Amino acid sequence: MALATGREMHDLMQELFPLNRSLTGEGVRATLAAIARTLPLELVETPTGTEIFDWTVPREWNVREAWIETPDGRRIADFSRSNLHLLGYSVPVDATLPLAELREHLFTHPDDPDLVPYRTAYWAERWGFCLARRELDALPDGDYRVHVDATLEPGSLVYGELRLEGESEEEFLLSTYVCHPSLANDNLSGVVVLAALGEALRGRTLRYTYRLLWSPGTVGPLCWLARNRDRLHLVRNGLVVSCVGDPGGFTYKRSRRGDAEVDAAAAHVLATSGAPHSLRPWSPLGGDERQFCSPGFDLPVGAFSRSPADAFPEYHSSADDLELVRPEALEQSLATLLEIVGAVERNAAYRNLSPYGEPQLGRRGLYRSVGGGSSAEEALLWVLSLSDGGHTLLDVAARSGLPFAAVADAADRLEAAGLLERTAP
Ligand code: ZN
Repeated sequence: MALATGREMHDLMQELFPLNRSLTGEGVRATLAAIARTLPLELVETPTGTEIFDWTVPREWNVREAWIETPDGRRIADFSRSNLHLLGYSVPVDATLPLAELREHLFTHPDDPDLVPYRTAYWAERWGFCLARRELDALPDGDYRVHVDATLEPGSLVYGELRLEGESEEEFLLSTYVCHPSLANDNLSGVVVLAALGEALRGRTLRYTYRLLWSPGTVGPLCWLARNRDRLHLVRNGLVVSCVGDPGGFTYKRSRRGDAEVDAAAAHVLATSGAPHSLRPWSPLGGDERQFCSPGFDLPVGAFSRSPADAFPEYHSSADDLELVRPEALEQSLATLLEIVGAVERNAAYRNLSPYGEPQLGRRGLYRSVGGGSSAEEALLWVLSLSDGGHTLLDVAARSGLPFAAVADAADRLEAAGLLERTAP
């Protein structure tokens, strides 16, 4: 399985879609196993009951079957038809109760009467079912049998990590979550795009060491942070990737620091992409960046998505399906992420070694002989002008409005001509 095209990524999503992912359990293991077919994932288990900062690793949850039987003998909210029907982390139950009592355990979508919502109760001892409001409204009075055949047992929380060795031990962290069941954009799009990113980076010579993380939301990153606490100072850049398959424009949310290299790279790549996008400042709402950027860690990690999780109407419902996610959107997301990563890889600061007046570029074959045309010449002048050891190439690109690649190419040429020296990193 290669994941170079949007179609290939979408095919993998189709395979993973029915699995019952949650914070723990077989669905997560099967999802990680599918990624591990082509990438050498390390699977890391943290046992139930382990205290991780202010949290405790929960029991492992697995479901065999779950359904409600109506007074006239029909099965509704059947887990075997869609795992969204069962409230996540439902405890086992087998009981018969009247509709009025059953209603306290039923959840419907707040806006759309035909959609099944996605709901969980990880940290409470309860059971419940999700169904369309239209179906609930049509239920007759009478006694209903509820059946949840599930286990909540000591086990472990598992995450998968791919490590790609670079020239530097400084790290670029790329993270997504694997804890949502049959939802496509919110969860699986990030899973497959991150796998494709891993495949693309694997064949390259890399400056940074890359660590790609597929983990159950919140507790997964916390397990990773706890396990890597003595190495976190090496994380120079990071991205949380989610909701990257819908047709909406790109959204980038800055790290808590706001001035990380990855923040500048993402802002620049999106500004010059020509694609609709929005840049958001840090906020403590959202996904796993909330853990990576919590004040004790304050890692330079931004969040990359198309429509953010709370901003598409299909969010956390049965409408977030394989139709919502488009192969071309997956492919464009992958290309944009590769461009951001590429800009961070090539970013550096330089010092102009001939800063008194402009150096004579024509004499060195750099001016008027450049094949790239006027923007290549403009880039030479911008790099010379701002290379005082303090500005990076991303700063030059932002101030000049020139594409990063043109700026980086100009720096390479000026360095080769002896007019620049690299000062950082
Ligand atoms: Zn979600």
